[in-house]
Amino acid sequence: MTTPLVEMDGDEMTRILWKMIKDELILPFVDLKTEYYDLGLPERDKTDDKITVEAAEATKKYGVAVKCATITPNAQRMTEYNLHQMWKSPNGTIRSLLDGTVFRTPITIPSIKPAVKSWEKPITIARHAYGDVYKNVEIRAAEAGTAKLVFEGVDGQREEIVVHEFKGPGVLQGMHNTDKSITSFAHSCFKFAIDTKQDVWFSTKDTISKKYDARFREIFDEVFQQYRSDFERLGITYFYTLIDDAVARVIRSNGGFIWACKNYDGDVMSDMVSTAFGSLAMMTSVLVSPDGKYEYEAAHGTVTRHYYKHLKGEETSTNPMATIFAWSGALRKRGEMDNLPELVNYANQLEDACFDTLNDGIVTKDLVNLMEGVTPTAVNSAGFLHAIRERLDRRMA
Ligand code: NAP
Ligand code: MG
Repeated sequence: MTTPLVEMDGDEMTRILWKMIKDELILPFVDLKTEYYDLGLPERDKTDDKITVEAAEATKKYGVAVKCATITPNAQRMTEYNLHQMWKSPNGTIRSLLDGTVFRTPITIPSIKPAVKSWEKPITIARHAYGDVYKNVEIRAAEAGTAKLVFEGVDGQREEIVVHEFKGPGVLQGMHNTDKSITSFAHSCFKFAIDTKQDVWFSTKDTISKKYDARFREIFDEVFQQYRSDFERLGITYFYTLIDDAVARVIRSNGGFIWACKNYDGDVMSDMVSTAFGSLAMMTSVLVSPDGKYEYEAAHGTVTRHYYKHLKGEETSTNPMATIFAWSGALRKRGEMDNLPELVNYANQLEDACFDTLNDGIVTKDLVNLMEGVTPTAVNSAGFLHAIRERLDRRMA
């Protein structure tokens, strides 16, 4: 390696797996260079969460990061970890500093059939993670009255529209988004499409929302012009359709594309798509900034329930697949950026060794009931990593 990878360590069971993955699958094969940031909750508390900001800044500097799952503290964690503040979600902090979009893709294998029979290839969901209903303001009107939407521009633009004349009690809501955020979202989507050589589908409800949703469509169309020739060269397409039409087409499709969704659509559809593909433990996630910085991680959390068992000395069968793929994704990206074909090859072999293992029926417990056509053998996390190592050794020999 020439440029270091930004390595963000995390919490609980995934922190245990993190070290096991490095020791068993990475360090024996790669002359690993990382800049290490400990985003484990104790260190975030100790540094007043500055470590998270530093890790995000390092990602901007070097361009590629790999992140372990981390605890987002709640009231119970305040006591458990004796925190002096309820720190914000590290993912939220990193995402807003990188202005990035999260792409979630399931890892698929032949013996785990998606709930939708026609899906042959994974579907990647890109969720716009800013604004709309997530930054809304709401009023509960307790009596009859007039609701208005008012805009007062700094240079004098003024618009006032009656939302509704209430004859009695009701509810109302105000939402917004910004051209800047939508533009960043579009750039990230087109960049990731080129990166993974997949079509982009984008959907809104612009027949009903003629200014708000229509603005999303316009911006995507504008930004796409910068990527059009790359898309043509790669034989991939950008396709816009109404959200209802998109839902119907997704179900009938064979998969293998990126579905860019507005914030709420992405929230809901990512849960549907990931459940339909099988297991949360097999869902990968990558944050892509509009200027092409990448942060790879697993979509799942720190698997707390398994960690508490681990602390009691019990064996756990936690699935490390998504965390391994975060490493392979990041190392491959680093290899591509730094022109290191050997590193790219290692990343591919590591993923193939994982597939070899699963296709041989060696799995963690979460997958046992999902498999068809093979008789699975359930192993614990260490056993699973060991089985991958054997296959990786053979591949790398
Ligand atoms: P979780 O860690 O994703 O786990 C929820 C359940 O899903 C587990 O109890 C387990 O089910 C199953 N599961 C998830 N990943 C698995 C794996 N790799 N192998 C096997 N089973 C797996 O979600 P959570 O328990 O709601 O959250 C735990 C902590 O993670 C929280 O503190 C939360 O803040 C944090 N979190 C972090 C991120 C992130 O950093 N990206 C994302 C989400 C949550 P069974 O118990 O049935 O085996
Ligand atoms: Mg959701």
